[in-house]
Amino acid sequence: MISMSQRILLIQDDAAAAKAILDALSNSIDESFQVQWVRRCSEGLERLAGTAAILVDLFLPDSRGIETFDRLFRVAPQIPILVLCTPQEEETAKLAVQCGAQDYLFKARLDAYLLPKAVGSMIERAANSEALFEEKERAQVTLNSIGDAVMSTDISGQVTYLNAIAESLTGWSKDEAIGHPLEDVLRIVNGATREPAPNPMALAIRENKIVALTPNCILIRRDGVESAIEDSAAPIHDRRGQVTGAVMVFHDVSVARAMILKMSYLAQHDSLTDLPNRVLLNDRLTEAIALSSRHERKLAVLFLDLDRFKHINDSLGHIVGDRLLQSVGRRLFTCVRSSDTVSRQGGDEFVVLLWEVKHAPDAAVAAEKILQALREPHLIDQHELHITGSIGIVTYPDDGTDAETLMKKADFAMYHAKETGRDSYQFFKSEMNVQAIERQSLEGSLRHAIERQELLLYYQPKINLATGGMTGVEALIRWHHPQRGLVPPGQFIAIAEECGLIVPIGRWVLSEACRQARAWQAAGLPPMCVAINISSVELRAPGFASGVRAILRETGLEPRYLELELTETFLMQDSRSTAEVLKELKEIGVLLALDDFGTGYSSLSYLKRFPIDAVKIDQSFVRDLTTDPDDAGIVTAVIAMGRSLHMRVVAEGVETREQLAILQEHGCPQGQGYYFSRPVPAVEFRQLLEFGVRSTAFA
Ligand code: C2E
Ligand code: CA
Ligand code: CA
Repeated sequence: MISMSQRILLIQDDAAAAKAILDALSNSIDESFQVQWVRRCSEGLERLAGTAAILVDLFLPDSRGIETFDRLFRVAPQIPILVLCTPQEEETAKLAVQCGAQDYLFKARLDAYLLPKAVGSMIERAANSEALFEEKERAQVTLNSIGDAVMSTDISGQVTYLNAIAESLTGWSKDEAIGHPLEDVLRIVNGATREPAPNPMALAIRENKIVALTPNCILIRRDGVESAIEDSAAPIHDRRGQVTGAVMVFHDVSVARAMILKMSYLAQHDSLTDLPNRVLLNDRLTEAIALSSRHERKLAVLFLDLDRFKHINDSLGHIVGDRLLQSVGRRLFTCVRSSDTVSRQGGDEFVVLLWEVKHAPDAAVAAEKILQALREPHLIDQHELHITGSIGIVTYPDDGTDAETLMKKADFAMYHAKETGRDSYQFFKSEMNVQAIERQSLEGSLRHAIERQELLLYYQPKINLATGGMTGVEALIRWHHPQRGLVPPGQFIAIAEECGLIVPIGRWVLSEACRQARAWQAAGLPPMCVAINISSVELRAPGFASGVRAILRETGLEPRYLELELTETFLMQDSRSTAEVLKELKEIGVLLALDDFGTGYSSLSYLKRFPIDAVKIDQSFVRDLTTDPDDAGIVTAVIAMGRSLHMRVVAEGVETREQLAILQEHGCPQGQGYYFSRPVPAVEFRQLLEFGVRSTAFA
């Protein structure tokens, strides 16, 4: 519906015909026209501006035939032209229509009713087609300027369109490509198999839905150049919803894909040695297990840890250490088949996966070969380095059927190889497992023991063997494990020492014992020297002495009420720094006792060198005191020595009246043991402080 008044240009030299047209158009009820009438073509050409439609007689005084149409159409192709003619001129009029005129009418047979309708719809059609043209132009420009390639096909799969990017990716120009089957223009293969990839547009048409390209798709350009592409195809529908073709949008992902490949390589390889890392090893192992189970084959995992690598790293620097690891990586590589995997787990740990192993001894042969290869000196910078390794071996399926179990057991076996003397290999044995699993589980829960407040101290009195009075107390740690109940220190102190947890645990023991001793004093009980056990790992940790000082200050316990029980092993190690630590402790004013005396080297000479206040005779000697004359001899000697060196001597593990009697006989000043009291919780110990231990033996 055209509501505004439309300007019509009428070019007609036939006055009667012009009159009829003017009448018909101006009397129209539906449409509103404003007609300008001229008689010559030249006049018409001057009035084109603002004209919605032209009605023209092709035979005019100044222009005749098709030329009249051409002159108008050339200047204003967008204005619809209706040709007026006589039946004799019909051929010319038809020619004009072919050239772009909208239609023609016989001027003698004009219908006053139909003419306005014909002119109106002609104007509307022209406006629509103009809009469509613009729309198409806009789409064209858009499609050529976006970064993606766009292609379309008709329902039979023939190419109907390509944008500029699609032209450059396929190597086909739009004009060449149109009408060709899609497969000719868009040659895509699966990057992995090189098989032709399914045609996504055909699929989109067939299934009438959007389909994504198969992953890892490669487009082969007309000249053979390949690029990785990615994207999707969608069906095109007509007004009724019928599929009429498909459009596909894709882009070159070669750069992105190369980047992904590089990143995944980096994520799967160790940057130092370029060997597969633990991630990739895990994949390979899982894959190897799957294959071996299908073909009922064996495979072996060799877990290698270098012996004393840390020493080289510390003394020669990590650059030399790194080179050595690279050298080890290369050696390992020469020892295995190309199908086997050599990987670096991190640090100085390597894992070798042997694919085809007929019998377990084959793995031993490989392990021996590896150890041999490692032993050869490594030339790094000017250094000729010697290194050995320890290898743990597991085989599939004998030792486990999943990657995690195999790796764990190989690790255990490696530890055993280390323990049994390094530069050797060990097959996994089931006993190893029990111990190691037990250990690991304890270690795991021990990590949380402090924060979960599962640790507590028991107290055992030290007795003056002459009077029966209490001379001191030893604090002994207990772990209240949520599932296992009370765990004695013998089951977890060694673990805590190995994994370093002994340091925070020891600090807790120290402050708890000091706090408790101070609390008893504050409660008015007889002041007692509290002894705690210090492992050599704690003593060697930096800042031990200052930690002691800080805790004494915090708890307000006088240093003379704290005794530290050390072991001989600590005194034996690195005597220079040992002496410094002990000196520092003595300066604080705490007492030092030597625990478990007699079990280690028991050299009397170093006892003299260190500022030791007391010696505790190990309970193994006390136990056999009544039956073994040798033990009795040692005990007497220690008592005599203590007297001459002015050290207190404490006999541990006194359980019986007889033992006590012998100790008293030899003048042993102090004793500790079940005979007097078992170690007891703090509340119970308070009773002992108040009322004393049983005193029958001293009556
Ligand atoms: P230790 O220092 O030689 O402690 C004496 C051990 O002998 C204690 O065992 C005690 O309960 C036990 N005992 C005492 N009297 C008798 C007796 O008459 N007969 C027998 N058979 N045993 C007796 P416990 O408490 O199991 O501690 C074992 C070891 O754990 C301690 O030996 C000590 O080396 C270590 N330990 C205990 N608490 C700590 C601690 O807080 N820190 C550190 N680093 N080690 C600790
Ligand atoms: Ca002790
Ligand atoms: Ca002891």
